[in-house]
Amino acid sequence: MRLYGVVGWKNAGKTGLMERLVAEITGRGFTVSTVKHAHHTFDVDHPGKDSHRHRVAGAREVLLSSGARFALMHELRGAEEPSLDTHLKRLAPVDLVLIEGYKRDAHPKVEAHRAETGNPLIAPDDPTVRAVAADVPLTLDRPVFDLNDTVAVAEFILREVGLIASAPQPMPSTAAPPPLRNDCFALPPGVHWTPVREALDLLQSRLHAVTEQETLPVTDATGRILAEDVTAVRANPPLPNTAVDGYGFAGGRGTGLHELPLAAGRAAAGDRPGTVPECHAIRVLTGAALPEGVDTVILQEDVTTDGGVLRFNGPVKQGANTRRAGEDVLAGDVILPAGKRLGSAELALLAAAGVAEVNLRRPLRVGVLSTGDELVEMGAPAQDGQIYDANRPMLLSLVASFGHEAVDLGRVADDRAALRARLDSATKNVDVILTSGGASAGDEDHVSALLTEAGAMALWRIAVKPGRPLALGLWDEVPVFGLPGNPVAAMVCTLMFARPAMALLAGAGWQEPQGFDVPAAFEKRKKAGRREYLRARMRDGRAEVFASEGSGRISGLSWAEGLVELDEAARDIKPGDMVRFIPYGSFTG
Ligand code: AMP
Ligand code: MG
Repeated sequence: MRLYGVVGWKNAGKTGLMERLVAEITGRGFTVSTVKHAHHTFDVDHPGKDSHRHRVAGAREVLLSSGARFALMHELRGAEEPSLDTHLKRLAPVDLVLIEGYKRDAHPKVEAHRAETGNPLIAPDDPTVRAVAADVPLTLDRPVFDLNDTVAVAEFILREVGLIASAPQPMPSTAAPPPLRNDCFALPPGVHWTPVREALDLLQSRLHAVTEQETLPVTDATGRILAEDVTAVRANPPLPNTAVDGYGFAGGRGTGLHELPLAAGRAAAGDRPGTVPECHAIRVLTGAALPEGVDTVILQEDVTTDGGVLRFNGPVKQGANTRRAGEDVLAGDVILPAGKRLGSAELALLAAAGVAEVNLRRPLRVGVLSTGDELVEMGAPAQDGQIYDANRPMLLSLVASFGHEAVDLGRVADDRAALRARLDSATKNVDVILTSGGASAGDEDHVSALLTEAGAMALWRIAVKPGRPLALGLWDEVPVFGLPGNPVAAMVCTLMFARPAMALLAGAGWQEPQGFDVPAAFEKRKKAGRREYLRARMRDGRAEVFASEGSGRISGLSWAEGLVELDEAARDIKPGDMVRFIPYGSFTG
């Protein structure tokens, strides 16, 4: 869900700005919902109103409904106020949710500011405030807009959430995409623990497609990503036709017996449409274009014929059993958007719409490298103290399952010179590198040491379990994801962070994994603070979790068929409580 907040001290002009933003953004055709954090005792109905009388009498919830709108009032009666996340789940899907208040939550915000109130700015101490809309000029380390320049603030927000493109000029199809910015993984100053949502938002806003474009026949396009929107060359169906085998004639018929003389011949699929004389019927076969003078078809099972006369009982509706021209796709419709990965269904659609060639992204080449003195190659003898390299086969196959080209960069020991040489040669033929191990800040953590030396690294301490710091950096302009060594953490971090980042680099756009809210089959107490991912699977409609949360347990990754995601809030989960389950199959690229 795309979120943007408006915050500010009292009388800073928050509500006015919200109101103008809602009008501006809905005026551009986007759907918008709003959330407002109100004063403790706010009232939405009034004494004497029926709903108020229900509430005061002690109803837990009062649902007030009419043909124009409905409102649900829930009385907390001393219970804890639900979190913003909980409330957001109640909202129907929209393009953008604007949030007034909820200053302390992690979503990105603009701050409204009026100098005359004498209040200090919130922005300097709060990295979630991405811009300020003020009635005086200000010098700040982030964008400052005029409080009344609604168009500028709205466009900033729409760009930030990805509803309008950040690059105003479409890329010419032959040009190489621009390189990533050197500071693309920089974190806002003073951040110690980054919430998952914020980490994802940063990746989404900083990364872009790095793969060039090429034109190929549709037959060679399976699994590839569209570089441009595709429009239909031809309507589907191109002409009105019959959906069944039967008899065609003009107009509907009322109840009772009907008789029509049969015209000679028949119309079959592939025939050019002929003409049927007035008040006649004609034999038609599925897929045949309707002859001139036919707009209605009756099923062959519902008629009798003899001596050239068709008999049937009405009623028959005009247009019955026919398909309108273009009812599926009209010529000129955008049938597939840029960024779409083409599967079998898309090939059928492209073919039907008369498209034979498409402009595609070259596949993203993803290098996978393992680091660690303790690692040996599978199949080789292992001495005491050594372990088999499990991450590399796992990551190579994950990358391939996302639809990218996986490139095996092998294994290097904990040796800075060897690692440097391997990275230097890798960057010549891959677009992104996934390393595992050596990503923290210890003596043998050479991946982070080298990337730091290169001057373009940030150690992302993300509030997530399982997970160690992620070392994100650039080596010769190639992004490097320094994943934790631990296979469970390496897989979860790949699914949650590297996967959507790679999808952006590949040109597929941002991809949220689709999860399902299902009842838990387990009990678990969880403290507030970190988001947690549990190895889980569905059995009998409930989510089971792996018995041990130990992050060295690779067997649990395979026991599982997906992950249960528990957000940052504290939870005391009992069997039957709802939890979010994300099947492995939802992690696509
Ligand atoms: P590191 O992040 O290098 O400190 O590694 C953390 C843990 O993950 C250690 O127990 C490593 O032995 C283990 N580990 C690192 N790389 C791999 C790998 N490729 N396969 C299996 N285990 C690994
Ligand atoms: Mg290591």
